[in-house]
Amino acid sequence: MPELPEIEVLSRELGKKISGLRVSEVVICREFLLKTPRKILEKKLLGKTVLKLSRRGKYLCLIFDSELILWLHLGMTGQLLWASSRSYDAYAQMALRFENSAEELIFRDIRKFGRICLTNGSPDSMPRGLRELGPEPLELAPDDFTKCFDGRTGRIKSLLLNQKLVAGLGNIYADESLFRAGINPRKRPSGIKREKFLGLHKAVYETLREAILQGGSSIDDFIHTDGSRGGFQNFHRVYGRAGEKCFNCGTIIRRIMLGGRSAHFCPTCQK
Ligand SMILES: [Zn+2]
Repeated sequence: MPELPEIEVLSRELGKKISGLRVSEVVICREFLLKTPRKILEKKLLGKTVLKLSRRGKYLCLIFDSELILWLHLGMTGQLLWASSRSYDAYAQMALRFENSAEELIFRDIRKFGRICLTNGSPDSMPRGLRELGPEPLELAPDDFTKCFDGRTGRIKSLLLNQKLVAGLGNIYADESLFRAGINPRKRPSGIKREKFLGLHKAVYETLREAILQGGSSIDDFIHTDGSRGGFQNFHRVYGRAGEKCFNCGTIIRRIMLGGRSAHFCPTCQK
């Protein structure tokens, strides 16, 4: 599933391609992903200009004039392609065509867990999932990061995945950050020393920054808008490495289930 770094990469890539372009046609191929009715999407976006691209948590934001924001969530298998209409296939969900552009923005999603939503700048127009998003981990000071988990009794891995506490982390970057910080995913915040917790903030920050620089992680479906793959999957130290040796100590990496999600960790390095 695309997480913060993958969406950040798409935001930067697409920002260069579609900022300043005017929408000439809204193509709705299938309506599964629409949280805003098709007619409203078509009517409001037509003729609008993309001012810039942004990101909030795992949402990509296309910011248009008239304070319109198109929120795209890629769910499990969503892809955004900058391509010609020849790239449409059975999984194409929606596309935006632009004036004077041979290429268009195509939202493709095989498993259809993605979401498409249009808001008009007022908080009331935002769905609850968006209104309740926690702070951005790359913008948090160390102390503010630890405060996000004050009074929480859950396991640290599950808490990191809770988008209301901190926005943008998913399974990959939560596992990788906990490994770097030397924290067992089963720990609860009350059992983590302050120094370690500050170390987790640093680990989250560095892991996300490195992943962005590497173009994100391409494991199953994530690709760039030109179809190329990210590179950070080559730097994963625990995620997807169950049964292999820890690069630090040689212990076999374990995969366990926590709160319905998998967690990968080194039992020796992460006490
Ligand atoms: Zn180890």
